[in-house]
Amino acid sequence: MNEAVFKEWGFPVGRIFLAAGPCSVESPEQVLATARALAGHGVGFMRAGIWKPRTRPGSFEGVGLKGLDWLDIARRETGLKIGTEVAEPAHVEACLEHGVDILWIGARTSTNPFSVQAIADALKGTDIPVLVKNPMTADIGLWIGAIERLANAGLVKLGAIHRGVSSSLEMRYRNAPNWKMPIELKRLMPSIPLLCDPSHICGKADLIPAVAQEAMDLLFDGLMVEVHPDPPRALSDAAQQLTPDQFLAMVEKLDLPHEKSDSPAFQNSLSALREDVDEIDGQLMELLGQRMEVVRAMGRLKTEQHVSTLQPQRWQEILNDRIRRGSSLELSEDFVLQLMQSIHEEAIRQQEAARLDDVQ
Ligand code: PEP
Ligand code: MN
Repeated sequence: MNEAVFKEWGFPVGRIFLAAGPCSVESPEQVLATARALAGHGVGFMRAGIWKPRTRPGSFEGVGLKGLDWLDIARRETGLKIGTEVAEPAHVEACLEHGVDILWIGARTSTNPFSVQAIADALKGTDIPVLVKNPMTADIGLWIGAIERLANAGLVKLGAIHRGVSSSLEMRYRNAPNWKMPIELKRLMPSIPLLCDPSHICGKADLIPAVAQEAMDLLFDGLMVEVHPDPPRALSDAAQQLTPDQFLAMVEKLDLPHEKSDSPAFQNSLSALREDVDEIDGQLMELLGQRMEVVRAMGRLKTEQHVSTLQPQRWQEILNDRIRRGSSLELSEDFVLQLMQSIHEEAIRQQEAARLDDVQ
């Protein structure tokens, strides 16, 4: 776990690292009310957006510069550290002038390497902590690239925030959780502290506690949560903001698992189950290898007869059959679809390779 990193950077850390606060700064009273409600509860910093990236023009686009003064007042009164989103060099300069404690780069901005580079250039020579949200799409390369651009500019206090990815398939959440992406980021950049933003994943307040718990079960180092004193009246993201009381109650209830346990009974049971998994994975690999051997033979046969690699009708039949069989084995449709798509993609690659072998 990397949450201790935040302590080294001078931020309070309670049971976990917490960033909480409104989607947007709206008024001096609103930020002060939020800060008063959060102060003294182990919150690392109060988050609040000043420049808001909105999908359509005409929506509330943030209060701009004056919001930094209001945040500063709330910070002085409550002692809470403050953080906001920067999307361009002018934002960076204003935040540095106001001594903002921590910055984050939003999902729309981390999607664009030009913008990230401009921000990195503006940050050169400072040591302010910067958190990078994952890009809108499931492109881990862009996420890593954004962190690398900041590191190359000499910044050392870097973290990541997972906020889900937009998806045309997702119905339940505003953004698909796509947990495999932060899990992969943790594997590739193990020293980067990783927060989860369940607010932007869920889009709805009542879904947030379960997703926050899931983040804890996946060993995230902390949470960034949208908290507003009067969510229904929020000028942005009203449906997904928690009241301070709801937020604090949620944090209290979070179960924080350890990565390991020393209990010998647990170790023994887990080892036995892991052996089973290893054995099954071995069989899976064998079977996949056999399947691809058959596929290569099909590739050669199709080549002889001048028949296309892709067989749309057969592919549809395979999918229907495997999804039906999977559902009787408690495998979700989504999982079977993704699994079969991966297998099919590899099968096509192997058939094409077999064709080339034939030509040579
Ligand atoms: C935000 O944190 O207020 C925000 C705009 O989030 P995201 O960049 O994740 O959409
Ligand atoms: Mn928001």
